[in-house]
Amino acid sequence: MKLLVLKENNSNENRVALTPDLIAKYQKLGVEIFIEKNAGEKSKISDAEYEKFGAKIVENLNSILPEADIIIAVQRISAIDFSKTKDGVVFIALLNPHFQKEKITEILQNKVSAFALELLPRITRAQSMDVLSSQSNLAGYRCVIDAVYEMQKAMPMMMTAAGTVSAARVLIIGAGVAGLQAIATAKRLGAIVLAFDVRTAAKEQVMSLGAKFVEVKSDEKVDGVYAKEMSDEYKKLQQELLEATIKTQDIVISTALIPGKKAPILITKSMVESMKAGSIIVDLAAVNGGNCELTKVGEVAEINGVKIIGYENFPSRVAFDASKLFSKNIYNFLELLIDKEGKNIKIDVSDEIVKATLCSA
Ligand code: NAD
Repeated sequence: MKLLVLKENNSNENRVALTPDLIAKYQKLGVEIFIEKNAGEKSKISDAEYEKFGAKIVENLNSILPEADIIIAVQRISAIDFSKTKDGVVFIALLNPHFQKEKITEILQNKVSAFALELLPRITRAQSMDVLSSQSNLAGYRCVIDAVYEMQKAMPMMMTAAGTVSAARVLIIGAGVAGLQAIATAKRLGAIVLAFDVRTAAKEQVMSLGAKFVEVKSDEKVDGVYAKEMSDEYKKLQQELLEATIKTQDIVISTALIPGKKAPILITKSMVESMKAGSIIVDLAAVNGGNCELTKVGEVAEINGVKIIGYENFPSRVAFDASKLFSKNIYNFLELLIDKEGKNIKIDVSDEIVKATLCSA
């Protein structure tokens, strides 16, 4: 069986879908590895490093496309000629299925089994394959580092002979995977951290990390792991709470999202204007429409001295570790599809993980 790893073609994507440490594991499964030339370059992994572990480097994609049984990528979906691929080829990547329907339909016109890793269900058995979690965790870490880099203030309290530096105040909106790691990172750096989420279960998790949970005074509750659209009454109370809280913060990190939906606007223009000059907002939901009204996707915008970071791809800013975790997630997912002899791919749609991720036209 032949597995092809694509080189990403988006300028802000530094990750690669396979790191060399996994090549031996694939070989044990009976899988031969082909890497598109320079695929690991931006994650600081050379072609020579892949070759050392037994992979073959491919200079011209067209030469390998008709032979590959499996093609993997981080999020490359374009400039691959699927009319040249083998019937039944398996293609696995982040395909952005809610927003790239047309492109996926086009791919499926060929005999391709395309799996969108964003659609992995949040169940225990899928945890080792969950790329969104592994990548969001790193995004939560990196966005705090980026905020600190842009800020002219220190994070921890420091008592010195020349005076006292106060600890930075950080508010995290949305305490999911990225939010919880952002809380942990900001705490480690010595900040005073507040966090807010609509889900009831988030309160305990936030408090276990040593942050304070800010609560909307409402009887409306969300149980379970997925958020839901809240009532207008709740949204009004939430807005009042954020208006009162945001103006005292040095850093606000927003990660609020309901999967498959446009991100809710939670930070309004007037809230930004109420913040002190020098404060930072990181809008992690920028790619999904943004939680802040003034976010500019891919940019650091500045309004009255408040910087709003709208980077599209935080995991790519920690590409080495992000690639490593991503690769392991894909390997674990492929173990579901490859038979023990490494000879056949079996797509068993009665398996809830396979069914959830397999794209249909
Ligand atoms: P997640 O689903 O684990 O967390 C989202 C959290 O937001 C959930 O806890 C949810 O309850 C909460 N939420 C939803 N609506 C809310 C509201 N109105 N008010 C407060 N909280 C609300 O998702 P995640 O994996 O942590 O990702 C969070 C966001 O970060 C997503 O938008 C994701 O696309 C984005 N993200 C961006 C990057 C990047 O590089 N820009 C990387 C990873 C994740």
